[in-house]
Amino acid sequence: MKTVLLVEDNEDNTLLIEDVFAFEGVAAQLVSVHTAEEALAFARNTTPDLVLMDIGLPGMCGLEATRQLRANPATKDVPIWAVTARAMKEDEEAARRAGCDFYITKPFDQEDLGYMVKFLVATAAGSESRTIAPPHFRLKPNGFPTTDPDANRRPR
Ligand code: MN
Repeated sequence: MKTVLLVEDNEDNTLLIEDVFAFEGVAAQLVSVHTAEEALAFARNTTPDLVLMDIGLPGMCGLEATRQLRANPATKDVPIWAVTARAMKEDEEAARRAGCDFYITKPFDQEDLGYMVKFLVATAAGSESRTIAPPHFRLKPNGFPTTDPDANRRPR
C-alpha cells in the first residue's frame, strides 16, 4: 500500500482531501499532519510516495519543508504537490524553485485531484516520472497541471 502524506493545518481542507481519497477510491493510505515539523518527523521514519503540501502553515512554511525534503537523500525524489490558496504566479514560481512538482490551487476540483493522485499511485516509478501528468490532463503554459478549467484560455 502506498502512503500519501498530507500536510495541511486547516481541518476543513484536511477533511476535503480525506473525502477525495475515500470517494475517488484512491488505493493509498492517507496520513494527515498539521505542521511542516510533523511532516519532516514522519518522513524521517517513513518515505511517503507522495506529499500534498500546503504552503501557509503555522511555524515552518511548506516551501521550507519542501526544500528540506529535497535536501534529504531519502526523500529527494518523492513527488511533492503544493496544494494552496496562494494563486499568484510568483507563489507558483517560488513553489517550483523550492522543489514542488505540481501546483494545485484551492479551491480545486475534487474529481480532478482524485484522478491525478490515482494516476500517480498507479504509475509511481522513479524520479524520472515524477512530473508526468495524467494523459489528457489540462496543462498550464508552465507545464504544471491544473484543476482550473479556464487556465488554458487565461493569458498569463
Ligand atoms: Mn494553511
